[in-house]
Amino acid sequence: MDNCIFCKIAAGQIPAKLIHEDDELMAFHDINPAAPVHVLIVPRAHIPTLSDCTPAHAALLSKMMLLAPKLAGELGCGVEVRGGERTGGFKTLFNTGPDGGQEVYHLHLHVIGGPKPWRGQR
Ligand code: 5GP
Ligand code: ZN
Repeated sequence: MDNCIFCKIAAGQIPAKLIHEDDELMAFHDINPAAPVHVLIVPRAHIPTLSDCTPAHAALLSKMMLLAPKLAGELGCGVEVRGGERTGGFKTLFNTGPDGGQEVYHLHLHVIGGPKPWRGQR
């Protein structure tokens, strides 16, 4: 898709701090992080919003969701159980449409985590 920043990242035309790449997905650090950990999980295919997804995208969406805790763990904000108590954690967020606060119209899943007090900013 012309003039889509995330398609340009997928095509290698503009740089990003990639932390994951496979045949369907990429993940990279957000350029303007809202928290100590802020990464975006992005399909290579240009799908504008979550509202454009259909049952045909179920496997892709599930792959995006399942990648989130894996990357969070690798980036130090995964959920761990210590002495029976859970610690750590992160938010997962799809902004959808203007009223949903979406700025880039190429589907992406935010993974936002790290030590407080960043909580609640998004
Ligand atoms: P949205 O508001 O659409 O859910 O989020 C778009 C996100 O993309 C924002 O958090 C913004 O900082 C990030 N972003 C916008 N342009 C770029 C870019 O060129 N590179 C990277 N890594 N992140 C970007
Ligand atoms: Zn795109």
